[in-house]
Amino acid sequence: MTDIAARLAAVRARIDQAEKAADRTPGGVRLLAVSKLHPASAVRAAHAAGQQAFGENYVQEGLAKMAELDGLALEWHLIGPLQSNKTREVAEHFDWVQSVDREKIARRLSDQRPAQLPPLQVCLQVNIDDEASKAGCSLAELPVLVRAVLALPRLQLRGLMCIPRAGNTAALAALAKTRQDLLASIPGLEAATFDTLSMGMSDDLEAAVAAGSTMVRVGSAIFGARPAGAGPA
Ligand SMILES: *Cc1c(COP(=O)(O)O)cnc(C)c1O
Repeated sequence: MTDIAARLAAVRARIDQAEKAADRTPGGVRLLAVSKLHPASAVRAAHAAGQQAFGENYVQEGLAKMAELDGLALEWHLIGPLQSNKTREVAEHFDWVQSVDREKIARRLSDQRPAQLPPLQVCLQVNIDDEASKAGCSLAELPVLVRAVLALPRLQLRGLMCIPRAGNTAALAALAKTRQDLLASIPGLEAATFDTLSMGMSDDLEAAVAAGSTMVRVGSAIFGARPAGAGPA
């Protein structure tokens, strides 16, 4: 077994264990392997070990890996900040965008999603605990953004994503409650499709699964430490 295959198996075991501990349906939590700042060869090794979904933070880096791994059946998620001048490349090449936090970006992604591709799968990034950070929309802005994204024809609104401060388990519960509140108050929003709570990383995936996460985004526990100087952004 390669290191990556062994670490991937260990992460899957942690998820299984966390599901059991929380009395959740086995297999209810998806694993997104966050491959930012690791080479295409690392993605290839994880794929060979059964991993299909990969997360990238930087558009150009993601596109380069997609080109290198063309032919593998991979699902690519953008999980980093997205500027308007990059939306076309994202709409044309990614399967999911988890970092949508304003209507202008959502509208451009919908307009630019090629007709021959399925709708782009979208999560709204919520700034659940950190007033100072610029990424993510506020809880107050969220209902308006949800309604706007629901109306866009080439986007499928799948759920909510957050990156809370380390140790802030209250934020994980708050995101789960926010999803329930939106389902109860916004007509046309369906639990069957608005089914994703993307939260939990290498260090807090157990807490996130206990709080109701349906997708954990795990980088370093699978691929090892990122190259020196590279931040977690
Ligand atoms: C880097 C990153 C992760 C993975 O973090 P690890 O601590 O390496 O598991 C998850 N989500 C986002 C948005 C990230 O930027």
